[in-house]
Amino acid sequence: MCQQSDFFVASCSQAWTEGRKGIVKLPTVEPNTVKLYIHWAYTGNISLDLLDDDPSASSKRWQTEQIVRLYIAADMFLDRFMKNKAMDTLLQRMDDGTYYLSLVPVSFVWENTITDSPLRANILHWWAATIERDYFIKAAKSLPTTFVIELATLQLDLRGRTRAAYRPRYKNRSQYHDHGGKDVRCSKWCSIRGPQEEG
Ligand SMILES: [Zn+2]
Repeated sequence: MCQQSDFFVASCSQAWTEGRKGIVKLPTVEPNTVKLYIHWAYTGNISLDLLDDDPSASSKRWQTEQIVRLYIAADMFLDRFMKNKAMDTLLQRMDDGTYYLSLVPVSFVWENTITDSPLRANILHWWAATIERDYFIKAAKSLPTTFVIELATLQLDLRGRTRAAYRPRYKNRSQYHDHGGKDVRCSKWCSIRGPQEEG
């Protein structure tokens, strides 16, 4: 199977097998994620309006989770344009104050991404900048140990640094994009350019 598709080549590559202790486990792709993905493929837009019939559709936490799940699906399908679009949508929500992420999707991300995933970096930076002590003590009990260790390490790295160091997205958004292994410093929104970025 590994010789048949890029997806399984990636699944069988060293990073994945190490990250997953030798087990190739595919994350579940929810029907909502499929809807968003297909719509994006045709229009280039992420439209949460498509999911309006869901009873949770007005919840900011639920909306943020849908974008995170879309990112994970794009990661699984090796679609970096979709990843960048989903990431830009998350960054936009952070800027707008509509980014709220509950604990279950955080665990989902840590179970389904490799260590140097830009999505992980993005979530860690957000937590380091915004988390309150008492909430963290409660939350840590239901979060993956690797997440807690990575967050603690980041906090130590940031000790004594400026306020700006806690919010690196203002200075450099491209660190959260997937540029196909190229060291690109893109302009504010990578996903506006989409596939033309290849050129
Ligand atoms: Zn970019």
